[in-house]
Amino acid sequence: MALKTEEKPCSLCGKRKTVYFRPYSGERLCRLCFIRSLERKVRRTISKYAMFNPDDRIALALSGGKDSLSLLQILHRLEASFPEAELYAVTVNEGIEGYRDEAVEHAVEACQRLRVKHVVVSFRELFGCTLDEVVEASQSLEDSPAPCSYCGVLRRRALNLAAEKLGATKIATAHNLDDEVQTLILNLIHGDVYKLGRIDPEAPEAEGFIPRVKPFREIPEAEIAFYAYLTGVKFQSKPCPYAGYALRGEVRWFLNRLEASHPGIKFTLYHSFEKLKPLVRSGVKAEILKCKLCGEASSKTICEVCNMLSQLGKLKEPGKTN
Ligand code: SF4
Ligand SMILES: [Zn+2]
Ligand SMILES: [Zn+2]
Repeated sequence: MALKTEEKPCSLCGKRKTVYFRPYSGERLCRLCFIRSLERKVRRTISKYAMFNPDDRIALALSGGKDSLSLLQILHRLEASFPEAELYAVTVNEGIEGYRDEAVEHAVEACQRLRVKHVVVSFRELFGCTLDEVVEASQSLEDSPAPCSYCGVLRRRALNLAAEKLGATKIATAHNLDDEVQTLILNLIHGDVYKLGRIDPEAPEAEGFIPRVKPFREIPEAEIAFYAYLTGVKFQSKPCPYAGYALRGEVRWFLNRLEASHPGIKFTLYHSFEKLKPLVRSGVKAEILKCKLCGEASSKTICEVCNMLSQLGKLKEPGKTN
């Protein structure tokens, strides 16, 4: 694919040809200035939220998509300036036939090339069943939740278990601005005040959970996709076969339409919530307990993972999820 360039020169260097126009800021950027600008924004987000300590052991959730592979590249470069920090990549194979294998291959290849230590864990080995099997079992439930609901809960647990095993002090995920704003709207739709209060890297971490950071949370998805393209990141572009069942897809479409007619509205929503956060958090006090079945940290006496798996008759041995 050839780069489409504009006649007007880059607004940062004033020399090279424009390859990217940022509608929300009016900036026209050449290839080099775009790459530098995105990496600078990520570094700024990391320091704004004090996401890392110099001696952190970071477990990066590496799905094999454009966002996580781009973040791998950026964190790998940053790691070189912090000799005491350690970067690990963790790929979770949910067990989605015809979809996840290609992404895992991209993840393995990138980690080998960059020499980043890489761990692959699967739902099958941790929970005794694949996501495909979970989705099939859920068909018998009245009002069965969308596949992504199961996937999200199980993947969160899988990442936590893998990160604990690695002795990680932080889990980094590649959620971008679009993901954050979509989640915000979804939590509003569902009236989930607890989750609204949790969507925050500054939130004091509850005992039992490894702190999660999102260095891309202020970067629009379209810019990460362009960064991946410009820097030659090879990633899986095929969408997940279950993606179409989620309400998130409709929220995404709606937000993209709004953004097209009101450039910058995603940032506006994001920053508005930043102002509301202290109010939301002050009204949410969740006690952290230990799940009676698996012993993992949970806000209820039976955690979401055990609850979901037992409803489906997939909780293998009482007392253990792995
Ligand atoms: S689209 Fe849904 S089911 Fe597919 S990988 Fe993402 S969260 Fe899981
Ligand atoms: Zn330039
Ligand atoms: Zn449990």
